[in-house]
Amino acid sequence: MNADLERLIALQKLDTAARDAEQRLADEPERLKALDAQLEAARQLAATTKQHLADNQHARRAIEKDVAVQQGRLSKFRDQAMAVKTNQEYHAIQHEMAFAQGEIKNLEDRILELMVDADELTAVAKRAEASLTTDQKSIDAEKRALVVEQEELKGRLERLGAERATLVAAIDPHMLALFELVSRRRHGVAVAEARDGICTICHVRLRPQVFNTIRRNEEILQCDTCQRILYFVPQPVPDVTQSAGSENVHH
Ligand SMILES: [Zn+2]
Repeated sequence: MNADLERLIALQKLDTAARDAEQRLADEPERLKALDAQLEAARQLAATTKQHLADNQHARRAIEKDVAVQQGRLSKFRDQAMAVKTNQEYHAIQHEMAFAQGEIKNLEDRILELMVDADELTAVAKRAEASLTTDQKSIDAEKRALVVEQEELKGRLERLGAERATLVAAIDPHMLALFELVSRRRHGVAVAEARDGICTICHVRLRPQVFNTIRRNEEILQCDTCQRILYFVPQPVPDVTQSAGSENVHH
């Protein structure tokens, strides 16, 4: 293979790897934000479910006070019933007592409902609290992994930069200038594989004569359409001795 072509392919590999590392580094703040948002949502859910349970208990205590008030009225009416002089007064007190008993019944029904709700709310709050604990642990771990990855990516970029400097020093300046020009115009990808007569990046069919030249990998040739420098990867020659002995060869 043409030595410059080989170096340009290697240079493209370094540039692509550096671009990936830079992209991942650039994505890290977003990933961190997403983790924080996930944790905040879990916190909110735990707080909300806890609040619902507290509201339920608060409502129950308020109703229990109302029950006590009605029971106080009922016992006052019972005392009064002992002391009534007329039938009319007696019926009036009976009416009040029936009303208070009705109220107590309604309030106690409501308490029962609240107690049933409380069981469900307690379970929901427990689940939310447990998943908050789990999320906290996993998110902490993911954040630590992000920090490690960040360091790793920075180190990788440094190494790639050093390798690039060494490689670039060995490339013919004209070839390097061509590479940089195409790279700038083609979003950082200046080199493309030609396969089955096609430029694998822009997918345009190459002239057969051009493709035949590229197959030899002895010249720096560009795709007519995207201008990328083209190279060819020879297909591995099938191992005849092995496939002859294998099954399913004859149909
Ligand atoms: Zn092309």
